[in-house]
Amino acid sequence: MKFRYLLLLLLPATFLGAQTDTSKMYKANLPLSKTVRPYPLTDPTAFMNTITATDLKALLEVLASKSMEGRETGEAGQRKAADFIAQQFKDAGIPAKGDRNSYFQKILLSNESWSNLSLRVEEQEFKNKVDYYVYPAFNPKMPELNLKELVFVGYGIEDPKYNDYAKADVKGKAVIYFDGEPIDEAGKSKITGDMYRSNWSVDWKKKVKLAKEKGAIMVFIIDPKIADNLKSNRRALSSGGWKPVASNSEKNTAEWVNNMFVSPALANALLGDKAEKVLATLADAGTDKFKPTKVKRKIELKMDKEGATLEGSNVVAVIEGIDPLLKKEYVFVTAHYDHLGSPDSSVVYYGADDNGSGTSGVIEIARAFQEARKQGIGPKRTVVCMLVSGEEKGLLGSKYYVEFPLFPLDKTVVDVNIDMIGRLDEPHKNNPNYIYVIGSDRLSPELHEINERVNMEYTKMELDYKYNAKDDPNHYYERSDHYNFAEKGIPAIFYFNGTHPDYHRPTDTVEKINFDALAKRAQLAFLTAWEVADRPARLAVEKK
Ligand SMILES: [Zn+2]
Repeated sequence: MKFRYLLLLLLPATFLGAQTDTSKMYKANLPLSKTVRPYPLTDPTAFMNTITATDLKALLEVLASKSMEGRETGEAGQRKAADFIAQQFKDAGIPAKGDRNSYFQKILLSNESWSNLSLRVEEQEFKNKVDYYVYPAFNPKMPELNLKELVFVGYGIEDPKYNDYAKADVKGKAVIYFDGEPIDEAGKSKITGDMYRSNWSVDWKKKVKLAKEKGAIMVFIIDPKIADNLKSNRRALSSGGWKPVASNSEKNTAEWVNNMFVSPALANALLGDKAEKVLATLADAGTDKFKPTKVKRKIELKMDKEGATLEGSNVVAVIEGIDPLLKKEYVFVTAHYDHLGSPDSSVVYYGADDNGSGTSGVIEIARAFQEARKQGIGPKRTVVCMLVSGEEKGLLGSKYYVEFPLFPLDKTVVDVNIDMIGRLDEPHKNNPNYIYVIGSDRLSPELHEINERVNMEYTKMELDYKYNAKDDPNHYYERSDHYNFAEKGIPAIFYFNGTHPDYHRPTDTVEKINFDALAKRAQLAFLTAWEVADRPARLAVEKK
């Protein structure tokens, strides 16, 4: 890959400027053996041609207008933009398949932190993020709790073959148990009977929920690996930063019982003089001999939170595939429609290129797929065109989507993502016939080949891989929504025009957009999505 783009840089400038013969450049990127498609494909030309500069201009003139107020997530402008996008889908005859038969997936983001977190055991003060850690997202507010006793319940598990609660009554009491599950001398789980761990280990919340069901009012989880976990979980534990929460999260929080991970040293303090004896009973856990031990201790807890929530939405167009089996696999085409808003009435961040261009592109792509569907010609798999919000605040709309997906992630084949495709950057100012392609070869070499092949066949652009280099200091691969899909193991390709002086400034306006370039780039994204959706076999995932 490296030599490909080096080759590009070595080409004489006059050649780069020539728009009529870029063929050598893109052909050079694909080995000859891969230039011929190994399977039949429904011809997408007619539908590709419905993606036009004129249509894109009409869309972008609305999206990047003053009335959209810079489309900031959670603000009126974003909601207005979402309604506008949904209306385009409705007008195209695309059925509404989001939340409650709308075009939307409501997203809820929360930014919670501890305002007052403290723990005293028999007058001794213990320290947050040293002796213990607590996730604000998985705890209800608890201004004050004074405990007089707690019960040790082994691993805190209740399973058909293993039960720590058989002789325990924990109603109205605090419990303390070990993280994980019992493992025998051979390293096998006493729950699964083999080397694999059960869900009790995989998801620690399962045990907290069980304790709540049993009537416990507080849960202490002994974490023997607290030092490592504090390091790796630092981000989730630290205050600040928006995080996706289930839109019914208030209900969820009420379902929680307060819980705290504690160091072995703190566990000793919680259990007092008897600690050693109590913890030794763990050897009997799961057998008839095991009896949960009650310990009298004075424990004072404060777990008070403060926080804010933010609501946005993703807008989805679902165009069902025509193959009865393969339509249960999903090809995603995404772009973020949010931008930086209007911090005061004198300034609007129009975000024409970032990412009004991608938003218009994805709307046009959805219309093109729907046109094919109407004619009964569409590709085999289902195509989901999704416009996400929250991107400028940290890729949050797509993060929300992958945490609370509308369609199974294991049936999601690809994410074709567009973020800024309406402008030319400085190195290409005389050559509008280019696009930066990022990420296509990271998880699936087939995706890379497909994009190259459709480009060679139809759009004939210069595909610039400069920013795909793993050591690229800009790290664009990690900076747009496809990254959240890639993190889940879903192959992703990202189209991008590079930066310009108007990037993230109020001057990113619609009259600076090159609509012919925008149309061609949207066509390429459409073609790649089409082929991935229509080919007989699912894209192979091959981690490099
Ligand atoms: Zn941006």
